[in-house]
Amino acid sequence: MINTQVRVRFAPSPTGPLHIGGVRTALYNYLFARQHGGKLIFRIEDTDSNRFVPGAEDYILEAFRWLGIQFDEGVSFGGDDGPYRQSERRDIYKQYVQQLLDAGRAYIAFDTAEELNAKREAVQNFQYDASTRMQMRNELTLGKEETERLIAGGEPYVVRFLIEPGEDVHVDDIIRGDVCINSSILDDKVLWKSADQLPTYHLANIVDDHLMRITHVIRGEEWLPSAPLHVLLYRAFGWEDTMPRFAHLPLLLKPDGKGKLSKRDGDRLGFPVFPLEWHDPKTGDVSTGYRESGYLPEAVVNFLALLGWNPGDDQELLSLDELVEKFRLEKCSKNGARFDYVKGQWFNREYLLRHTDLELGGEFAKLLSREGIEVTAERAAEVVALMKTKVIEYQTKDGPKKRNVSFVSDLWPLCRFFFFAPQSFDANDKFVKKSWREGTAAEMQQLHDVLATVEDFSVEGQKAVVDPWVEQSGIKPWNAWRVCLVGEGQGPDMYALSAFLGKEEVLRRMEFAIATLK
Ligand code: GLU
Repeated sequence: MINTQVRVRFAPSPTGPLHIGGVRTALYNYLFARQHGGKLIFRIEDTDSNRFVPGAEDYILEAFRWLGIQFDEGVSFGGDDGPYRQSERRDIYKQYVQQLLDAGRAYIAFDTAEELNAKREAVQNFQYDASTRMQMRNELTLGKEETERLIAGGEPYVVRFLIEPGEDVHVDDIIRGDVCINSSILDDKVLWKSADQLPTYHLANIVDDHLMRITHVIRGEEWLPSAPLHVLLYRAFGWEDTMPRFAHLPLLLKPDGKGKLSKRDGDRLGFPVFPLEWHDPKTGDVSTGYRESGYLPEAVVNFLALLGWNPGDDQELLSLDELVEKFRLEKCSKNGARFDYVKGQWFNREYLLRHTDLELGGEFAKLLSREGIEVTAERAAEVVALMKTKVIEYQTKDGPKKRNVSFVSDLWPLCRFFFFAPQSFDANDKFVKKSWREGTAAEMQQLHDVLATVEDFSVEGQKAVVDPWVEQSGIKPWNAWRVCLVGEGQGPDMYALSAFLGKEEVLRRMEFAIATLK
């Protein structure tokens, strides 16, 4: 039973485009907040100025707008606990660092990067901790006076967390249960640096979770190793009564299940690992995104929600509202979730087919316009209706593969002939060979002349005239007619295609085929 209002946060560091795993983390936080009538906070953890990437924050916000994941408070959303960007909270952290120093839970250290490197080279597996701190240049070895003298002289320093060794630290994780490690393996983490007057991730994260009254920390498995340190920090501050509960989500694994999903897997197998296209400001590299690859946001949400959790029955298609109702944080898997991108394509097809032909036609018309073809959404919708249930062949590094039409963009290579007449015929094409023999040209001329008499060129109108002619003449015109209009053995029902093209265009294509193929 949760008595206090649930407050969760998504707290990305703006170091680049949001990885799809981060999107899933945010989604689970969103689902959890909504189902408990709680609040979701958007915090920017930008205290590591070296890793700051311009544009990343806007990118992240845009990605969530696209996906329909809404925040209640935070950067760009407002709220009473701001500022929500950590670089704007220097004074707050300074005060809390001082609190730890005053209580003897942290200490000042002057070791330079060179000194630390030299130590690491000299001592195997060197760690700054209880076993080594008395050999280093810090407040504990130099004394208070010398420390104050150095600071007054402008010597740069850091504040380190003083970790007592030999203590079992328990993390109570909603997904993993009791996770216990011994404090002796932890090092005296740097909490604050005088050089930029900024805290490190650990301190800022804990102080903000406390001040923002966060009740549950739901984040990726990669943060589990930091959790014991975080527990110790809560205790050092005397905040254990309001310590949030932890839930570390399962890792996203490569499609073959071996190892952590990386951008390279996406590049290799041809799927995006970012929600939106990303233009790297430094290298100029462009990485594809789910949005630009033609995924529907609701398909991405549904797909991601099931990577690490499932409703316990066979239901796979779940709207955001159903997800809010059914999601159970404690039912998330401990084991990594295989990133089955083919399943992602399947989800997209399912959601694609839930849209009306006119909606899809509107999208398809936009795509056609980029190819220099201007048609109305209604006209494009006719093509969508005829072709959306077809199969496409696509190229992969492992050779050609087939799948159902799953994206509006899949329609384009399938549908060129709706807009462009055949310019030539491939005499070696199996279908053309089989369909066009001696005498076929004459038969097509007959069909041409019959069609020329049709006044109502709708499917029904053509049928009424052509079917009796087929019956009476004994000619089976379908394959050769397809060669005339399409150029190969593809496409929809012939009457439907013919009706779409219209009489004039149909007769023109037939004349060209007859003249060319003879
Ligand atoms: N800033 C961290 C990140 O980039 C947040 C980790 C956490 O949620 O505590 O993911």
